[in-house]
Amino acid sequence: MTTPEPCVPLTELPKPLDQLSPAELERKACIGKVMTHTLQSLTSTFIGSGFQWLLPVALSQSTDPLWPDPGASIEKRIEVDIYGKVVRTTASMIIHKLVASSLAYPKLFIVSPNIRIEKAERAKTGRHIYEFSQIDFEARDASSKDIFTLVEKALVTLVTSLNKDLKSELDTLRYEPLRVPTAPFKVVDKADLEAEYDADGWEAGLAESIKDPVWAINIPREFYDFEDFQTGKWDNYDLFMPNFGEVLSGAKREWEYDKISKKIERDQVNKENYALLLKLAKEGKTKPSAGAGIGIERIVGWATGVRHIAETQPFPRVPGTVNEL
Ligand code: ATP
Ligand code: ASP
Ligand code: MG
Repeated sequence: MTTPEPCVPLTELPKPLDQLSPAELERKACIGKVMTHTLQSLTSTFIGSGFQWLLPVALSQSTDPLWPDPGASIEKRIEVDIYGKVVRTTASMIIHKLVASSLAYPKLFIVSPNIRIEKAERAKTGRHIYEFSQIDFEARDASSKDIFTLVEKALVTLVTSLNKDLKSELDTLRYEPLRVPTAPFKVVDKADLEAEYDADGWEAGLAESIKDPVWAINIPREFYDFEDFQTGKWDNYDLFMPNFGEVLSGAKREWEYDKISKKIERDQVNKENYALLLKLAKEGKTKPSAGAGIGIERIVGWATGVRHIAETQPFPRVPGTVNEL
């Protein structure tokens, strides 16, 4: 085993650069090489598959509500007044992705910094930081199946090339070789996972018991993921990696005004924050799409086998801890 299970208490949390020993600094640089390679490999797969690379934004009136989500644990939402308007720091660029893919960029991705002030106790999961980045992507007219195929190709390509080009770095960082995943990955309904493991701990149970990545599907959550009102099934997915846990969430999306509007009301989310999306949907300008976000620190954390994903950050963002840099 290369990583502790999520939720195992960690005795020592990742420290800032200025507090590391020379050996720890070397290890940090080694993880940095895996990070660089991972960014190069994943972005190349997206570009090679016809995606355009958009730059991120940090402040918007509209951002991800992160609600309702069974795993949500946000301590504080950051809002600030500029030019007489309230803007929020980016929680994810999901709303921007829906608008951008509908209006101008049919296939897009963004390396997007996300701020989520997680509860301080989440420092100990080893899987949460309060600033992280996603490769957040969206494709017009795509199905969930199309996204599975694309992500599976991206991950097999990544791991194959990491094993070839960064073998000595991985040997230094990991206790055992990094296994190239076998695609296609298994797809399992969340209800079946809850029955097999337990309703609260299915995520950890799943991650412990698998050898290859697994897609968990049909997870009730935010309004923008597609829900079939007839069957009650959600066309969405999370990707779980062996001995690690979730590294990606995504979905086929809602694009019709009536459904988006009803779901926002049902969730008691502030409609005013989604006025533009609602207006575009009402005018018939939003298009069907599917996409997902890959947590970059998590995928690199999984590949390197670190105990805490803040080890993949040059400037660690451990919940509950603020350093000068
Ligand atoms: P979790 O349930 O693990 O707390 P989440 O389901 O709330 O995560 P999403 O809203 O699905 O997170 O975010 C999309 C992706 O961004 C996740 O799959 C994960 O890879 C990454 N991510 C989310 N929150 C964090 C965090 N606090 N630190 C690092 N990565 C994160
Ligand atoms: N990036 C996710 C998605 O595409 C949304 C999120 O970050 O919560 O569905
Ligand atoms: Mg998720």
